[in-house]
Amino acid sequence: MDCVFCGIINGQIPSKTVYEDDLIKAFCDIEPQAPVHIVIVPKIHITSANEIGEKEAVYVAHIFSKAKEIAKSQGIDQSGYRIINNCGKDAGQTVSHLHFHLLGGKDLGAKLV
Ligand code: 5GP
Ligand code: ZN
Repeated sequence: MDCVFCGIINGQIPSKTVYEDDLIKAFCDIEPQAPVHIVIVPKIHITSANEIGEKEAVYVAHIFSKAKEIAKSQGIDQSGYRIINNCGKDAGQTVSHLHFHLLGGKDLGAKLV
C-alpha cells in the first residue's frame, strides 16, 4: 500500500516526531499552516473518518485523550488550539490515512470555512 503516513509510522519516511506511543504518532506537518501545526495519526491504516467503527474509535479516543499533552509540549495548551479532520474531497483530504491537524500558536479566528 502506498500511504505516506504509513511510511512515516514505519520510519521509511522521515518526520519530526513530537509524540508517539503504541497507538498513535504525532509529527510536524511538512507545510505548516500555523506557527504550530502537528499531524496526529493512528498507527493503523484507516482511510478516513468514514471508516471509523468501534475498533477504530479506540484510536480516535486515544488521540483526543493525548491532544492536550501534545498541545502542552508545543506551548499552546493555554493559548488554545484547533483540531481538524478533513474527510473526503470537498474537505480537501489529500492523504488517505485518518489524521487530525492540531493547529495553534496564533489567533486562528472564529471562522471554520
Ligand atoms: P489533509 O489535506 O489530507 O487533511 O492533510 C494532509 C497533511 O499532510 C497536509 O497538511 C500536508 O502538508 C501533510 N503532509 C503530506 N505529506 C507529508 C509528509 O511527507 N510529511 C509530513 N510531515 N506531512 C505531510
Ligand atoms: Zn496509511
